Amino acid sequence: MYVTTPDSLGEFFPDEPSYRTDQLTEWLYAHPVMSAQEMTNLPQSMRDQIATSHWPFNLDVEQSADNGLTKKWLFRCHDGSPIETVVMGYPTRTTLCISSQVGCAMGCTFCATGQFGFDRHLDAGEIVAQVAYANAYLATSPLPRSPARVSNVVFMGMGEPLANYDNTIESIRRMVELIGISARSITVSTVGFVPGMRKLIDEPWPLNLAVSLHSTIPSERSKLVPINDRYPIDEVVACAQEYYETKGRRVSLEWTLIAGENDSDEEAVGLARVARQIHAHVNVIALNPTPLSNDRPPSNDHIRRFLGRLKREGANVTLRDTRGQDIDAACGQLRLRAEE
Ligand code: SAH
Ligand code: SF4
Repeated sequence: MYVTTPDSLGEFFPDEPSYRTDQLTEWLYAHPVMSAQEMTNLPQSMRDQIATSHWPFNLDVEQSADNGLTKKWLFRCHDGSPIETVVMGYPTRTTLCISSQVGCAMGCTFCATGQFGFDRHLDAGEIVAQVAYANAYLATSPLPRSPARVSNVVFMGMGEPLANYDNTIESIRRMVELIGISARSITVSTVGFVPGMRKLIDEPWPLNLAVSLHSTIPSERSKLVPINDRYPIDEVVACAQEYYETKGRRVSLEWTLIAGENDSDEEAVGLARVARQIHAHVNVIALNPTPLSNDRPPSNDHIRRFLGRLKREGANVTLRDTRGQDIDAACGQLRLRAEE
């Protein structure tokens, strides 16, 4: 159902009048529900067909943390593929962290998704349905003291969204045009997939761009982020700068801090230099250890020193809120965290 474009929804129901498509679009995007049976103004036969043949995924596991302010969902698609989605409540916003692929082909050594390799792209419907599910859920079970609707979306779950470009863009179009989320409240996070970054510059929306840098020393970055051999850091930074200059949107630089890998003074100085050059904001997050790697986060003292050095070098920096660490550990990847 979500997998098709709204314009062609009617093809599934050739015998129904055309206004059914509008009703269905409303149920899917503007006022989503947890099950097709709640689409009360549609005929029973149509609801049954949606439930059995067109529902994008079913909930497999739900976990809760931070006194109910964080929920993580594991969905299963029709082919059994897992999708991880996390919702986080704050006093003024409710942020959803979504997946764009099943697995990821980029192979970053510290990332659980990268370690498990690439399975398939999510299609636009499977991406946007994560937002619809969250809105349906929040309408009846809002997180404590937080908006009962998704206000912010971050592409920081499984996958590299810019390597699944068309589906990512179509999902964003539906979020903006059909669900009503502001493009300024949507963050696309990329490991530095340059062809996708170039295309994103030409899109009409003022989206936020987060670039996962992790090192500014080319040989070191290639170790952590193998795609650096194909799209070297200088090109990535140039694209980020162009994004900032074209869109007027401040880019954020993501830095997963790993003991003995990218936590030296030299790295802090290099990162601050790039941040100053492109007027970026730096987000540092301590590594969440993953099963297939011996990498560990630095000590709290060392993290503080790294941040201090960044600030002295003139970088604008935030230490990421590590929401729901206990449920993070289960997936090793979806670090529950907030955008600015
Ligand atoms: N592929 C995109 C978006 C998904 S990953 C990207 O890499 O930007 C989202 C963020 O999670 C990235 O900044 C990534 O570096 C970070 N990340 C991945 N594994 C992590 C881990 N084990 N601990 C902390 N952050 C991690
Ligand atoms: Fe893929 Fe991002 Fe994980 Fe790298 S950090 S493997 S790009 S999901």
